[in-house]
Amino acid sequence: MKSSEKIINVALNVPVNELFDYLSNDEDIQIGQYVKVPFGRRNLIGIVYSFASSSKVEKNKLKKISYIDSEVLFDKRLLKLLSFVSSYYHYPIGQTIMSVVPARIKQDKSHINRIELLIQPTETLTQEVINALPKRQVRLRKLAQKLLEGPIRQSNLSKTISSPLPLIKVLEKANLCTTLEWQLKSDSLSAEAIPKLNSEQEIVISKILNHNGYKAWLVHGVTGSGKTEIYLNLIEKLLKKNLQSLILVPEINLTPQLESRFLRRFYDKKIVVLHSFLSDRERLKHWQQAKSGEADIVIGTRLAIFTPIKNLGLIIVDEEHDASFKQQEGLRYHARDVALVRGKELNIPVVMGTATPSLESWLNTKQTVEKFDYLRLTKRAISEAKLPSIKLIPYAKDKYSTRLSQELLKAIEERIKKRQQVLIFINRRGYAPVLVCTSCGWTPKCHRCSAKLVYHRQQNKLRCHHCDHQQVMISQCPDCGNLDLLPLGKGTQRLEDELENYFPKASILRVDRDTMRSKKALNDLYTKVNEGDVDILVGTQILSKGHDFKNLSLVIILEIDHALYSTNFRSTERIFSQLTQVSGRSGRALIEGDVLIQTNFPNHPIFHYLKNHDFSGYADLLLEERKQMNLIPYSYMAILTVQAKAFSCVEEFIDKAIAEIGKIKTEVNFFGPVRPTLERLKGFERVQIIFQSNDRNDLHRFLGQWMNAIQNLTEIKRVKFSLDVDPIDF
Ligand SMILES: [Zn+2]
Ligand SMILES: [Zn+2]
Repeated sequence: MKSSEKIINVALNVPVNELFDYLSNDEDIQIGQYVKVPFGRRNLIGIVYSFASSSKVEKNKLKKISYIDSEVLFDKRLLKLLSFVSSYYHYPIGQTIMSVVPARIKQDKSHINRIELLIQPTETLTQEVINALPKRQVRLRKLAQKLLEGPIRQSNLSKTISSPLPLIKVLEKANLCTTLEWQLKSDSLSAEAIPKLNSEQEIVISKILNHNGYKAWLVHGVTGSGKTEIYLNLIEKLLKKNLQSLILVPEINLTPQLESRFLRRFYDKKIVVLHSFLSDRERLKHWQQAKSGEADIVIGTRLAIFTPIKNLGLIIVDEEHDASFKQQEGLRYHARDVALVRGKELNIPVVMGTATPSLESWLNTKQTVEKFDYLRLTKRAISEAKLPSIKLIPYAKDKYSTRLSQELLKAIEERIKKRQQVLIFINRRGYAPVLVCTSCGWTPKCHRCSAKLVYHRQQNKLRCHHCDHQQVMISQCPDCGNLDLLPLGKGTQRLEDELENYFPKASILRVDRDTMRSKKALNDLYTKVNEGDVDILVGTQILSKGHDFKNLSLVIILEIDHALYSTNFRSTERIFSQLTQVSGRSGRALIEGDVLIQTNFPNHPIFHYLKNHDFSGYADLLLEERKQMNLIPYSYMAILTVQAKAFSCVEEFIDKAIAEIGKIKTEVNFFGPVRPTLERLKGFERVQIIFQSNDRNDLHRFLGQWMNAIQNLTEIKRVKFSLDVDPIDF
């Protein structure tokens, strides 16, 4: 090692919890820069994590960093957050960091328009100069020729010449052109009229603004209480101080509507979105704009919590209770929880909004440590708008009938006559969840998962909703040859068909994962509904959140009984939240709203609280149950899932892993091995071990030791495993 060489600890996307040491003689190398390094026979991209004065690798065996990019991707604070996330979720540090690096950078294609440039020809650029350029330099000549026509934006240029930036630099050096940063102009947009705030909204806003520094605010407001308006007011104040805001939303389908609302209000500000419907190129561009400070407002789904944001002054987590904030594979983080850590580290406010707080957050408003400040909105923002009335409808006496009852049909008909809209919620897509042979009882199952195949009639296919396996619909039972195969139960497609029969003149729109596959489909949905082109909306949970359909006066909820008695202890919490959300779609403007719920269990306590719009009462009841059973949020849990194609591999590993538990002195309880509800998924046999402790630190201390121990087991090579800390699905 030469004296000028430094030892650099690089984070790489490798499944071991270690940093890798390399050498560099670059004086200016900085923490957070991205680099390329030789790793085995490959070259990998990594992030400079720290510097060291010594290495456990012999100095003459250390390799050199092969490329250093000038850009610092993550500052020290964000790296500190990522390091916390890595240790909290027990996920390797390199993989943690690399899982939040934009795809284009990982693919080493980051050199796209970091900043949009305006390229202007100088007076030196003439036809003679172009003619004198080397004949071989075809692309350079083409660029110069284009510039001779006048100034051009970089993004417009890329239509004629791919990756023109290095060529632009050549011309700029030769004084043939100059570059300027292009300023986005938004003259085509007009500002919306700002609604007047009610007194409750004003109190909430002033409380948040009058506090300096970090605080976790839980804004609990009934549906339609104007939480978005509160966000907009807070952001406006931040913009005056030149600070950026980050808004996390649970799902992509909420962003188009929110984005357009933000654009109307902040028409002269730069708003960027970050979600998975974007191309990698767009995503990187928006990420860079957030990072450079160019974007004033960043709206994104869970991964956006890791976006570097230069002057971040506020984090908003909309619908904080939503399960989609929890990543379910790879780095299994919860974006709301990470937001709280980030807010604390930056000493800025974190505002969480919801109509139905998660029980974790609800408990946090009552506790003294890690306390959330509780703010309540009890009125709907439009003063005349009332909360909808909720009525329970029994199923028809003939219990095999899945048809809609007369009462429901009459209610739908009434609304159609009044030119009002109806939303029918059924949380199951496809035509029928089960197909059964009427003679021998055979049902089609997925060969890769322990799950039944769902019948999709429009495509005439049987599909697995867990692994997306598809096969053509069969015409006879493979076991007994019977031709009479009966679809049982009801999904969105079957409901749509049924409604078409009853209301042939009505315009019916189905909204589920099969029809809403793109951002465009979602945008079209809003336009259609808001222009009154739809009489009946049939849909899954996609429809339950965030949408403001002004002419909607009736919500019908079907087939929820199975969720009332599920094995997942979070099921009732979730169904209450979902029913509140979907009921809240009704009567948001001046029309009074009704909600009809079909159920066989009208005496289930959930309905008592739902009818009274009493979240607090139900949440307290659930908390009491959880306390007695010592479940989350009164205790802390983690689940290890082990899977392999051969069950014997899983068994061998699990036995050894459980033996390792016994070697550690701990109070942590464990349950297992257990088979999850889906014993087999995508062809893999699965087994779990569940850990539980009354002390968060004890649990993490134990998990740290145990994860280290099991990684050294030889059997680990034949299985895949994942650890889920603070799990939400069981
Ligand atoms: Zn049969
Ligand atoms: Zn499957």
